[in-house]
Amino acid sequence: MRHDLSNPSLLAGGIALTLAALVGIELLPARTMDLAAPGAANGPYLVTANGRQDSSTVRWLDAGRLRLLCNYPSPQPYMGCGLTFVLTDKDPTRGRDLSLFDTIELDLDYQGPAPFVRLAIRNFDPRFAKLEDANSARFHSVNLRPRDIDRPVMVDLSELTVPEWWIHQYDLAREYNRPSLENANSLSIDLPFLQPGQTHEMQLRRLVLKGQWIGRDRVYLGILCGWLLGASFVVLRGWGQLRQSNNRQQREIDALTVRTRQLRIEQEQLRRLATIDELTGVLNRRGLEQALDDLEEAACGMTLVLLDVDHFKRVNDRHGHDCGDEVLKRVAAVVAANLRGSDVFGRWGGEEFLIACQGTRVRDAARLAEKMRERVRQSEIGLAGGVRIAVTASFGVALAPPGGSAADALKRADAALYRAKEAGRNRVETDRTLQSDSPTTV
Ligand code: GH3
Ligand code: MG
Ligand code: MG
Repeated sequence: MRHDLSNPSLLAGGIALTLAALVGIELLPARTMDLAAPGAANGPYLVTANGRQDSSTVRWLDAGRLRLLCNYPSPQPYMGCGLTFVLTDKDPTRGRDLSLFDTIELDLDYQGPAPFVRLAIRNFDPRFAKLEDANSARFHSVNLRPRDIDRPVMVDLSELTVPEWWIHQYDLAREYNRPSLENANSLSIDLPFLQPGQTHEMQLRRLVLKGQWIGRDRVYLGILCGWLLGASFVVLRGWGQLRQSNNRQQREIDALTVRTRQLRIEQEQLRRLATIDELTGVLNRRGLEQALDDLEEAACGMTLVLLDVDHFKRVNDRHGHDCGDEVLKRVAAVVAANLRGSDVFGRWGGEEFLIACQGTRVRDAARLAEKMRERVRQSEIGLAGGVRIAVTASFGVALAPPGGSAADALKRADAALYRAKEAGRNRVETDRTLQSDSPTTV
């Protein structure tokens, strides 16, 4: 079984997981924070001109239902009204991470002449905010017209921006003025800069922050990474398998190459053995025939010297077959030792040997035959018990002119040899029917 994505069941599993993740992200319940619920945050506190909760200008009509009333009978330096949720606990520098949320569901009932209701969030940024200055926590706000919120609405958190006045007031580097809600320490709904003599009444029915538990982009990125990892695994695994199979094949090829080389050597040895006479170690008849074919093909002509041991049957009869073999070996060795490098020599059969000389100088071949005859006559084979055997041989010499047939020349050499035998043996006879001593030899 293949344990990778090319396996259909694993591939189907991957697709099912992907679909489950895509559907799951849609069905997953939203992350919520209901600030109006009791205990969800500190407060809400009233936003008053002097910051005190017992103000007569801003007061609760029904604190439990978050219903309040604002009325400034006479002008004051700051005439604001509203409510604030404090998002810090014991440590005033540690707020809530509202960047996890996308929207605020707001259900606010407002009665009064204010042109807009402000939704604001402060974020404590320890890089520049100071505890002693509550305003130094970066301010984010959005102004909502009463007629736009006369029913429950969703306010996107991206609608909240850092207002110009706050940027001017704190004169910070650009990067500090960007909206960021990672450490929000308060959220307020208020009516800033009211006119004296007006009555404003508001009731907060619902204030819920909403967001995804896992961002869609993260899920998509996760799916993409999963498939990329799977694909990388498949590619790496395939590459590994390919390498393994390549190595295996290479080993097989190497083994075959070695075996082929061995077989060639063995074949060469067999081929050599097939052309070598086992007893004497010189070429056998087959080897001689091949050599004659080669010489014939070269078409340079050749002279053949056919040699036959005289009365060899007697040697066998008197001294035994083994002794006869020794004689054959000896004769072969004597002849081989007196040949030229270019001469071809072998056992034609029985006690007959053949020398093939390149070139057409019959006289030279006859001289060579004479030399061989003398060497064979002089050689003696020692036997056990001090017995020594001397043998002689008869020779027939014939020419195969360039382009001529070796078989034909062989017949004539045989005839010459026959004449040598007839004439008393231990002699050289040359075929006279075809003779050329012109220097065409190599
Ligand atoms: P000639 O002078 O007319 O050539 O007489 P010869 O006795 O040499 O010739 P013949 O053809 O009558 O006898 C050849 C003998 O050589 C007969 C055969 O048994 C023997 N012979 C052939 N091959 C071998 C061999 O391999 N070993 C031995 N020991 N004898 C062999
Ligand atoms: Mg013979
Ligand atoms: Mg003989």
